[in-house]
Amino acid sequence: MRYTPEMEPAVTLTSGPVNAYPDVLRGLGRTVLYDYDPAFQRLYEQVVEKAQVAMRTETRPVILQGEPVLGLEAAAASLIAPEDVVLNLVSGVYSKGFGYWAKRYSPNVLELEVPYNEAVDPAAVAEMLKAHPEITVVSACEHDTPSGTINPIEEIGTLVRAHGAYLIVDAVSSFGGMRTHPEDCRADIYVTGPNKCLGAPPGLTMLGVSGRGWDKMKANANAPRASILSILDWENAWSREEAFPFTPSVAEINGLDVALDLYLGEGPEKVWERHALTAAATRAGVTAMGAALWAARETIASPTTTAVRTPEGIDEAELRRVARERYGVVFSSGRAETQGKLTRIGHMGPTAQPIFAVAAVTALGGALNALGGTANVGRGVEAALAVIDAA
Ligand SMILES: *Cc1c(COP(=O)(O)O)cnc(C)c1O
Repeated sequence: MRYTPEMEPAVTLTSGPVNAYPDVLRGLGRTVLYDYDPAFQRLYEQVVEKAQVAMRTETRPVILQGEPVLGLEAAAASLIAPEDVVLNLVSGVYSKGFGYWAKRYSPNVLELEVPYNEAVDPAAVAEMLKAHPEITVVSACEHDTPSGTINPIEEIGTLVRAHGAYLIVDAVSSFGGMRTHPEDCRADIYVTGPNKCLGAPPGLTMLGVSGRGWDKMKANANAPRASILSILDWENAWSREEAFPFTPSVAEINGLDVALDLYLGEGPEKVWERHALTAAATRAGVTAMGAALWAARETIASPTTTAVRTPEGIDEAELRRVARERYGVVFSSGRAETQGKLTRIGHMGPTAQPIFAVAAVTALGGALNALGGTANVGRGVEAALAVIDAA
């Protein structure tokens, strides 16, 4: 056994959290300033401004002090009132999970569910909205990570806005890895975070909130205030003149500052390009070696995660164990309904580098063969390289 469980792996190719960029790790080590020190208040305002530039919003984003699950629950609690009728679009485990939060805040939750290797069809959303004019809130997940598939969120957003409803978008594992922004998809609350494609550790949520999203939350008598779940508490916290509702996670803000500098410094288009290329090379390698993609069609496969269908007769947990033990490569499993049925190769932040497609295909193919599979690893590597070299 080359890589024992006690040892660190050689490379973590998961779909988040991912190892942080070295510069972000150095940023986390900056001085932990007193939160009311003018230097920190200035830094906090600047970080929110950088997030606004990165998210391309008119309104200032909000940072919440917990990894993005906090932002998702806070969005449900703040935006959804008991009289709302919610349409939850389900294409995987995260969007399914959001429905349970939605039901906590309104008894009226409808669902439109597609198989977890499919994408939500905007035509079906349009039909649902037409059949149910009473729908006031729609929730969707852009990239339901345990499925590795992308939903057409801008088309969905256009329909939702035309209907007059509010839109909550989970963009945790898509933002920063592909072209996606809160206002492009007309989201009223857009939830993301630093711990996927921005290459920072888990610990914060970044929210894009529209003007009408703020109005709706303020009109909701049940929206949390003076609570860890509150979005409203943080409305003016960006300003160096205003008090924080409670102590911000100073070290995480330091790390996010660097992560945003890296993203904006490299150039978002360049960052998206290397995510897309790494994913395309991985897909080519995986299919050329004889394995199958989980996604029903390559056009809906995510640029930030490649989900590979587990071949008949192979134990998925064993497959990941062998890949780690022999090659020191860590992949993600499926979750809930997709657990045991697929293995996920992440391309996020620092691991969205094309050469990691070669490492991923090699380690996955080697592990498949160690378990009696018939992967043609050489063909897979050549196919991955061909995609990289053609770019
Ligand atoms: C990662 C992720 C989250 C945050 O959840 P954790 O697994 O707890 O980090 C939320 N939604 C999506 C789609 C994600 O990929």
